[in-house]
Amino acid sequence: MIDAHYHLDLYPDAEAVTARAINEGHYILSVTTTPKAWRNTLALAKGAPRIRTALGLHPELAFERHRELALFEALLPEARYVGEIGLDGSPAQKPHQEIQLRCFKAILNACAAAGGRIMSVHSRRAASAVLDAYQERSNAGILILHWFSGNQNELARAVRADCWFSVGPAMVRSASGRALLSAIPAERVITETDGPFGKNGTASLGPGQVGAALQTIAEIWRVHPSEAEARIANNFRALTANVPSFPDQSVSRRAPMR
Ligand code: MN
Repeated sequence: MIDAHYHLDLYPDAEAVTARAINEGHYILSVTTTPKAWRNTLALAKGAPRIRTALGLHPELAFERHRELALFEALLPEARYVGEIGLDGSPAQKPHQEIQLRCFKAILNACAAAGGRIMSVHSRRAASAVLDAYQERSNAGILILHWFSGNQNELARAVRADCWFSVGPAMVRSASGRALLSAIPAERVITETDGPFGKNGTASLGPGQVGAALQTIAEIWRVHPSEAEARIANNFRALTANVPSFPDQSVSRRAPMR
């Protein structure tokens, strides 16, 4: 399966979870929440070509981790993927809007200067602000809006800005999430779990456990789930081939997908 937003390093048994992801053959975008987490999270996936580790600075941590921006910039040349980054406009985060925006803009600038990156982006209650910042720095690369929850106008704007969307079981559980999904062009949809935050009941989703999302995507596309899975695998290949300065060798057209 394609799991384009997964917090491998936040599982207490991260090694076992990694082994499971490898065994089951999933393609994982392993996002991090602080630059300091990058090295160890990258090491977890050593020798696992289907797990790509993204360099991140989560917006909800920006207020206490903004000093790690310099480290982010120092590590960026080694990182093919960036995330989790973005903005969060939830009430609890209101006091930190300014520092969040400063970090997000600095990251977009750094990515632009580095030739562009594929970025997994958080935009809860902040979709317009994310798109405003991206509009100023669209040469930062390609945005994957993860668990998108903006309104339909914001979605349309994101589609016009060539954004991608990673859709997980949590997103398709709500009627508004399903309405958004119906409006996203099929060729811009990939799957995610957002584990361990993404859950099935009370249990955190394991790597690649995107089945519930795939089921709903298949219903909306009016295809068999296996066909939806194949199309999403194709989308993921197209996406990762999209940053010319980082041709991704690990997802060749011949690589078997499971
Ligand atoms: Mn996340």
